[in-house]
Amino acid sequence: MASSNMAKGSAKESPSPPLSLSPFLPDGETRLVGLLGYPVAHSLSPLIHNTAFRAQGLNNLYVALPVAPADVAEAVAGLKTLGFLGSNVTIPHKQAVLPLMDALSAEAQAVGAVNTIVCRRDGDTVTLYGDNTDVAGFLEPLSPFAGALHSAPMLIFGAGGAARAVAYALLSTFAPRSLTLAVRTPARAENLVRDLAPYDAGGVLRIVSLADAAPSVRAARLLVNATPVGMHPHTDATPWPDAADFSDDQIVYDLIYKPEQTRLLRDATACGAHTLGGLAMLILQAAASYIQWISQAMPVDRVRAALREVGF
Ligand code: NAP
Repeated sequence: MASSNMAKGSAKESPSPPLSLSPFLPDGETRLVGLLGYPVAHSLSPLIHNTAFRAQGLNNLYVALPVAPADVAEAVAGLKTLGFLGSNVTIPHKQAVLPLMDALSAEAQAVGAVNTIVCRRDGDTVTLYGDNTDVAGFLEPLSPFAGALHSAPMLIFGAGGAARAVAYALLSTFAPRSLTLAVRTPARAENLVRDLAPYDAGGVLRIVSLADAAPSVRAARLLVNATPVGMHPHTDATPWPDAADFSDDQIVYDLIYKPEQTRLLRDATACGAHTLGGLAMLILQAAASYIQWISQAMPVDRVRAALREVGF
C-alpha cells in the first residue's frame, strides 16, 4: 500500500541543487495536492510546496489547477475521487467551497473562507475538512510580541479578505483594547464588523475613514497593512504617508511580501518601530497547510531559500 509520505531515496535533508535542477518523475504511487483557483498560473504555492516535498524526499506533487467558478463543486468532488491528499483554495473560490466541506475549523468558520482542504480518509470513506491557515500564518511572527500585544490598541488598514483573517486572529488571540479598521470603503468594513461580532464580545471593533485615522494610528501598538498599497511595482505607495505618526513602541506588520521592505516598513523602521513583512506569513500559512496533508513539518528554511532564488 502506498504511503503519502513514502520517501524516494533518503528522506534525510541534504544539500541539494535548486529545484529547477532536481529531477523528479511522478510514478504510480505519487500523491497529489492541488491548488484550486482562477487564475493560478502565477501562484507561488507550487514552488513552496514542491520545494518542501523535494527537500524531504517525498513522493508527492503539488499542482496548480485552474477551475472556473461554475466548476468549483465538481473540482472539489474530484479531489476525493482522484485520491488527492487535499488542496489549497485561492481567489475566487475561498468562500464558494465553504458549504462543500464536511467539517470546518473554527478559523475557516469565523473568517468565512477556506484556503486549505484536507481529504481525510477512513477506509473507503473520504471526508473534506476546510481550514483557513492565514490565521495561523499571520499570528506566528507575532508570537515574540505576545506580552506587549495583550489588551493593546490595534489598527488594520483595509477590510478585505486578508483583513478578515487578521481581525479574527487579533480578536481571538490578544483581546485588544480597541481594533480599528482604517478604510476607504466603510460599507465593506461594516460587513466585516457584523460578521465578526460573535468574536468581538468587548465590542472593540470600530471603523474609521482613512481621512480621520491619525489619532488611531498614533495610539495603536500594532498596525497591520492588509491592503495592496505599496506592493510591487508601486513601491513608493503607502497606506499611511504621515511617517511622523509612527513611534518606537509600535509594531508595524505589512502583509505585502513583494517587496519585502515596503515604504510603510521603511518609514516605520526610521521611527524606531519593530517591523514585520509578509513573506514569513506567506511561508507559515503554507506550512500550516502542509503539515495537515502529510503530518510532517515543512522545511521552512529551504522554502525561504527557494523563494529568494526567484527574487522574493
Ligand atoms: P482584497 O480582499 O482585495 O482587499 C483589499 C483591501 O485593501 C480592501 O479593503 C480595499 O478597499 C483596500 N484597498 C485597496 N486599494 C486601496 C487603496 N488604494 N487605498 C486604501 N485601501 C485600499 O485583498 P486581500 O486578499 O485582503 O489582500 C490584501 C493584501 O494582503 C494584498 O497585498 C495581498 O497580497 C496581501 N496578503 C498577503 C498574504 C501573505 O501571506 N503575506 C496573505 C493574504 C493577503 P476597498 O474595499 O475600498 O476596495
